[in-house]
Amino acid sequence: MTTVPTHITIDPDISEATKRFLAQPPRLLIDGELVEAHSGRTIDIVDPGTGALIARSAAADEVDADRAVQAARRAFAPDAPWRRMSALDRGRIILRLARLLEERADEFVELEVLDGGKLKAAAATVDLPLAINHFEYFGGWPSKIEGNTIPVSITDAMVRTERVPVGVVAQIVPWNYPLLMGVWKIAPALAAGCTIVMKPAENTPLSLLRLGQLALEAGMPKGVLNILTGYGAEAGEALVDHPDVDKVAFTGSTAVGTRIAQRAAPMVKRVTLELGGKSPNIIFDDSPVEEAAAAAASAIFFNAGQACAAGSRLYVQKRSYDDVVGRLADIAGSMAVGHGFDPSAQIGPVISARQHERVLGYIDGAQEQGATIAAGGSAFPDAAIPGGYYIRPTVLTDVNDTFTAVREEIFGPVVVAQPFDDIDEIARRANDSPYGLAAGIWTRDITKANRLAGLLQAGTVYINMYGATDAAAPFGGFKMSGYGRDMGHANLESYLETRTVWTNLSH
Ligand code: NAD
Repeated sequence: MTTVPTHITIDPDISEATKRFLAQPPRLLIDGELVEAHSGRTIDIVDPGTGALIARSAAADEVDADRAVQAARRAFAPDAPWRRMSALDRGRIILRLARLLEERADEFVELEVLDGGKLKAAAATVDLPLAINHFEYFGGWPSKIEGNTIPVSITDAMVRTERVPVGVVAQIVPWNYPLLMGVWKIAPALAAGCTIVMKPAENTPLSLLRLGQLALEAGMPKGVLNILTGYGAEAGEALVDHPDVDKVAFTGSTAVGTRIAQRAAPMVKRVTLELGGKSPNIIFDDSPVEEAAAAAASAIFFNAGQACAAGSRLYVQKRSYDDVVGRLADIAGSMAVGHGFDPSAQIGPVISARQHERVLGYIDGAQEQGATIAAGGSAFPDAAIPGGYYIRPTVLTDVNDTFTAVREEIFGPVVVAQPFDDIDEIARRANDSPYGLAAGIWTRDITKANRLAGLLQAGTVYINMYGATDAAAPFGGFKMSGYGRDMGHANLESYLETRTVWTNLSH
């Protein structure tokens, strides 16, 4: 059964290419073909900025997951084109995909705004360039994956290592950067020579489904990159449980990540986890107030606070606390909230009605515990777009380290601000969290900054900057923020096994 969306409400200015893509019947990409889900069931895809239905996607189940894994397994067979191809040719296909993504960047920007609720300018200047860079960086790797010769103590034995792809990988990603989170995983897995079943988040499948089609245009053999849209509990778990999946690479919540690790353990599947965060952003009193407040605002309000590394716990040294937090509240109060296609908007919606309710629940809970709302603190109803899931940028003060809003990841435009006295105190309090994804340090004293960086349990520490990522720089968590790294050489390693080959030279 095919259900074509019947009441699509989309911006009339979006491109014909995007309109055509949205009007496609809901399909999965398996073995190089767009196919219906086995059950025929679909998922409504909604624009978070209006609440309107914009498309429907196919809801994959266990049967579809099996089809996709089998396709990836066939594409990984020793005599399959992907495996017989030279490393240089594999790199060329990845680089061609980078070029195609660059040529079609406008379409992808539109898709990121439409189902991800992103600001168009942010998608165009952050998500797309980073995704393209990722394919460019990893497109250069296949021809540089080398083994070693090992000087063992046994005479007449030659020992060498080979780096070989792990095999079929299932990749499961969240909705906050629908394209980029997928590309962070797809590019290194392709560079290593793996084959992939990618499951986008159920509410943001559009750009990765489109990317899968683009990969075929780039010359990717069929079955190398399969896109399985669907729910986590159904399609996601079926992939994790599938005996023919060699590795699971997951980005998402810590709750789901721990469940995946447990389910994968009996089969000793390789698992890498990029999980949640509650990252401290620490401002010393020698930082200029204006600069510090602007930095604190962008660390939390970028992408409406829906960033794993968001600087959601703000600590300001006592002497400048009132000035910095006062200025931050002014900035938050003056930010224009609006739809991603509105060029004047500075902050967009959160992803869904559920997330809207969840974030507002944290704000209410903090107030009940005694927090003061220094800015925002409520939904943002806009008469022009009544169905959107908007929340005013929110600054909470008069909190302490025991407050739920200080301890738990809110994943919305909400920052909790607290004063601190000195470096030892702030190191202890910054580390007093189950998470350890990122941290920010702001000071003119670079020695102090580096001393504090060395004390922080965080996978990434930013000094006098915040939130940058680069295809070459490893990114991931300490503690319950996960294990393994996205990006950089470290990520490529996680898609490779080492085979040690011994040869008896006395024969
Ligand atoms: P989520 O864990 O609910 O979902 C993430 C993905 O997992 C989705 O594709 C979902 O369908 C799937 N899923 C859900 N249940 C599953 C199951 N039982 N088995 C297999 N798959 C399942 O997370 P979310 O709400 O979509 O995303 C927000 C979370 O992602 C936040 O905690 C955020 O910090 C985290 N995140 C982390 C990073 C990082 O690099 N560390 C980056 C972005 C987001």
